[in-house]
Amino acid sequence: MAGYAIVNASVRTLEDALPEAEAVAIRDGLIVAVGSAAEARAAAGSAEVVDAGGAAIVPGLVDAHIHPFEPDDVIGADLTRCGTLAEVRAALEAERRRGGPDDWVRGWGVSYEAFHGDEIHSALIEGAVDGAPALIHFMDQHTALASGRALALAGVTGPVEFSEAAEVVVRDGAPTGELRESAAVELVERVLPESTARERYARIVETIRTLNARGVTGVHVMAGSPATFDLLRELEENGDLTLRAIAPLWQQPETSFDEMRGQLGHVGERGRRWRGGVAKFFIDGVIDTGTGWLYSPDTCGDGMAPFWPDPGRYADAVRMFAEAGFQCVTHATGERGVRAALDAYLAAGAAAGVRHRIEHIETVTDADLARFPRENVIASMQPLHMQWRQDDDSDSWAARLGPERAGRAWRTVDLLRAGATLALGSDWPVAQNDPRIGMAWARLRRTPGARGRRTFEPGQRLSGLEALEGYTTGAAAAVGEATVGGRIAPGLRADLTILAEDPVLAAADDLPELPVRMTIVDGEIVYAQDAPEGV
Ligand SMILES: [Zn+2]
Repeated sequence: MAGYAIVNASVRTLEDALPEAEAVAIRDGLIVAVGSAAEARAAAGSAEVVDAGGAAIVPGLVDAHIHPFEPDDVIGADLTRCGTLAEVRAALEAERRRGGPDDWVRGWGVSYEAFHGDEIHSALIEGAVDGAPALIHFMDQHTALASGRALALAGVTGPVEFSEAAEVVVRDGAPTGELRESAAVELVERVLPESTARERYARIVETIRTLNARGVTGVHVMAGSPATFDLLRELEENGDLTLRAIAPLWQQPETSFDEMRGQLGHVGERGRRWRGGVAKFFIDGVIDTGTGWLYSPDTCGDGMAPFWPDPGRYADAVRMFAEAGFQCVTHATGERGVRAALDAYLAAGAAAGVRHRIEHIETVTDADLARFPRENVIASMQPLHMQWRQDDDSDSWAARLGPERAGRAWRTVDLLRAGATLALGSDWPVAQNDPRIGMAWARLRRTPGARGRRTFEPGQRLSGLEALEGYTTGAAAAVGEATVGGRIAPGLRADLTILAEDPVLAAADDLPELPVRMTIVDGEIVYAQDAPEGV
């Protein structure tokens, strides 16, 4: 198959041998030349030339932590931009008006900050949803708020016992509507009307197209099951898988060891642009609600319970998957949770070429931090989650941790200086799935464009190059793909993002508005700014 050359560009290769070039040649899904326009034209083996118009080419941007294949999480009102209860209510009212009188009112992405100063209680939204059954998910997916009608339909009338750290919050004997952790949320989700398969598929394809338009060429999916592999097969067969995906098998505290053993055979599942081979665990919840696992209680007396009631059982599960050749991925926001994951990985070992990873790491002690490089564990972080912090530390995240622990927040620079590999991501739909916003937060540690706002832990600000590496070389290393991707060099995958300007040189405050000119996966142009219908 004949290839093509992209010329008139400033190519940032992230490759030591040739850091910068002006053209790239692509053939059969691979980069075949990097250098001058003449070299690229000669190597392309065809006359086809894309003129980049002076734009910057960087390795394809990869979101190292995202949930793109859970279309039920993004139904209804998008509440991610609502900073106040009034805005939440207005969005829910609009959603209510869109449906019929008995329809559910749904919403997603609401922040704890929107409830600032108020107890999370269904009474706050009953007026807006006007008696309708309603379920809104918080931005971190760990908490939901159900209306009284929704609780009634689900038969939730009081406290419920769970085998994991989940809770139907009750006050004066009655549920408040707040549901903590998935087992509690599922009580209401069980009675929701189901989307059709066609609706769900369409929502997933829309998500993929949106990611492409934001320059994303690959995703590390953070929840999954064998059904996810079926979805990926279907997307690929239909030509809709316009990015690379790595999907895990999620193991929960309720999963029996027999069920886990039954999944080990999936280790080698793959398609052309996707693969499995990853096992995902949660060892804690979120710091904001007191479910992050800490060394000592938070200021509300919470934070002492791991998500797996028996952390030894979690470690056994890690070992089972590690021995079967899986990469293990553990969600750990709190510093005690981080240690539990490091301990489990150290005890389990890893197959040749496999490095386990820890997700979030919102606070970590010096001693545990030093273990990342020493024990070859990847740090996967989302600095843009600092957008919910308040300048005066009044947010529940900082208030619960107290100043000392909160001062050890998102230690991206400390981890890099210690020699750790850092991968960056969004955790969408928790936060915006736009790597330009993610890079801006990693560099600024404050809201992009809001120069008057506080910079959180200024010593932890990444450079422009380090932020880009988190979405490229770091992301590739996080999944054992440093030899096939993450850089621009002959023989590597032709996954490229073309931006109006080099994101390393662009001012961090300007990154969110930096135009994406073109996104290329496997040599295929999956997004072009001038061709809204795709190429
Ligand atoms: Zn996640």
